[in-house]
Amino acid sequence: KLYNEVQDLKGNIRVYCRIRPFLPGQNQNHSTIEFAGEDGELIVNNPIKQGKDSRKLFKFNKVFSQAASQEEVFKDTQPLIRSVLDGYNVCIFAYGQTGAGKTYTMSGPSLSSKSDWGVNYRALHDLFHISHSRRSSIMYEIGVQMVEIYNEQVRDLLSTNGPQKRLGIWNTTQPNGLAVPDASMHSVNSMTDVLELMNIGMTNRATSATALNERSSRSHSVLSIHVRGNDLKTNTLLRGCLHLVDLAGSERVDRSEATGDRLKEAQHINKSLSALGDVIFALAQKSSHVPYRNSKLTQLLQSSLGGQAKTLMFVQLNPDVASYSETISTLKFAERVS
Ligand code: ADP
Ligand code: MG
Repeated sequence: KLYNEVQDLKGNIRVYCRIRPFLPGQNQNHSTIEFAGEDGELIVNNPIKQGKDSRKLFKFNKVFSQAASQEEVFKDTQPLIRSVLDGYNVCIFAYGQTGAGKTYTMSGPSLSSKSDWGVNYRALHDLFHISHSRRSSIMYEIGVQMVEIYNEQVRDLLSTNGPQKRLGIWNTTQPNGLAVPDASMHSVNSMTDVLELMNIGMTNRATSATALNERSSRSHSVLSIHVRGNDLKTNTLLRGCLHLVDLAGSERVDRSEATGDRLKEAQHINKSLSALGDVIFALAQKSSHVPYRNSKLTQLLQSSLGGQAKTLMFVQLNPDVASYSETISTLKFAERVS
């Protein structure tokens, strides 16, 4: 195994925190981030509501400050991604309130410039690069699927015959550990293939948006990259899977204001994010019972959470003081699972 170094002492769950920079027009003096240390320490403070107990310290495997580039973030993610070529299952999430930078981290703000690329494009680029350049007898094949989970329903975002086939989740306990929902699988060989597919995915996602709210922040999107390595020398087959998950916004919805569809959405999101938290918490505690069955999200990801699988969560923060209470609730979620 080439990439054993990723197996660190803390086990298979790691948590990185990333702070989004202020956007033009936001008051930079009102940051809730007092200190962001490279060693993983984070101190938050509400500059407006100063009080004795207002400063809080959190600890992560890594903290990326406002200044961190997409490239720097990827550098610390790359070993995990490469371990997929050794047959590991890997799951990477972005968690946080809407606007905190989840999509920026996972996909990037645009595709036109490579320096903007987020984790997903860099991961695929890296997998192609390594699988083509490894001087070994292993022939790799890479396939991708992309689904959306909205109101506990799973839809194929890469379906080419009409958008949005509704899917059931099954086969989640296959002996080879690969959860393959019945979504279309697309074989890819180059970044051109990938970019073409992602365009289909984004279009399918956009056409389902309702007028009232932006669907992408109310649903989870899961990009699954399946790697099959055929070792011609030993005649063995190796499989690994990488799930890249842009979670729905974690913000709490005001119960007094939300009604109808909005309330239903909020309840589904709430339920699935807590189910995810419960699963990761159970894994971190090495608990004998891991409650995978409580949401579609955790069912879908079951084979990539726990066991030999490696999990990374990006905890995304908006430093603006107006987001203080959401920041604290995001950090509490992270604290529980790390
Ligand atoms: P989310 O997906 O969590 O709702 P986005 O990724 O859409 O949040 O980010 C919200 C806004 O902030 C976008 O305009 C995005 O381009 C910008 N943004 C987020 N993270 C960064 C970053 N690290 N550097 C620069 N701009 C960022
Ligand atoms: Mg987003």
